[in-house]
Amino acid sequence: MKQAKRSFLVIGLGRFGESITKTLASLDHEVMVIDKDEAKVNKVADLVTQAVHADATDESVLKELGVSNLDEAIVAIGDDIQASILTTLILKDMGFERIVVKAKNDYHGRVLEKIGADVIIHPEKDMGIRVAHSILSGNIIDFIELSPDYSLVEVAASQTMNGKSLKELNLRAKYGCTVLAIKPKDEEKINISPSANDMVKAGDVLVLVGTNRDLSKLEQELLDESLTREFR
Ligand code: ATP
Repeated sequence: MKQAKRSFLVIGLGRFGESITKTLASLDHEVMVIDKDEAKVNKVADLVTQAVHADATDESVLKELGVSNLDEAIVAIGDDIQASILTTLILKDMGFERIVVKAKNDYHGRVLEKIGADVIIHPEKDMGIRVAHSILSGNIIDFIELSPDYSLVEVAASQTMNGKSLKELNLRAKYGCTVLAIKPKDEEKINISPSANDMVKAGDVLVLVGTNRDLSKLEQELLDESLTREFR
């Protein structure tokens, strides 16, 4: 399904901002970028709708550019925490519907929360958590923290799950986790909100939601199973 075209303002073209910019542009969204480093602006100029060399903490420049006509803003300024906070405040005052901001550390994140940033991203920390879960259990493909207590995981069904229905696996009773979807190993189609009688094959991807404690029980069990197989 093709997504509706949206418009974004990306401020800061470090590795994080550049990667967001390229992805949004490749998906055909309208992207305006601003960076105070001219070379970084030139590097993506051909890919985006508008590339501007400017200091984003200068409110008059942002007004002149008419950035408030855009749907969402992403502030990807890294080291200069003061500039990141000031830019977020200005964008907030301009009435942006949603502002996503990259935080350098927890203190930065807390200030951003206080001034009304809608989404705060800690790229290194978040990626570290995801990679650790995926390293620990070869079966965990992705791990997204939804809140301090709940997460969403993508798990590759193990050999012991092979040929069993969701009812037989009984993941809700055993681990308190709900299966939101099954992505069959060899098919494009995704089974959204599967029923109890739907079958699972080893290698199918199960999308699960649950508390972190329950999910880590499942993760441990999958790890034990793969270690048992490895040393058998
Ligand atoms: P990454 O880890 O994503 O590579 P980083 O955390 O090291 O980035 P910086 O390189 O410090 O972050 O900043 C990201 C970008 O933000 C840089 O290209 C920098 O020029 C730009 N930037 C910093 N301050 C401003 C500002 N006031 N206005 C516009 N751009 C800015």
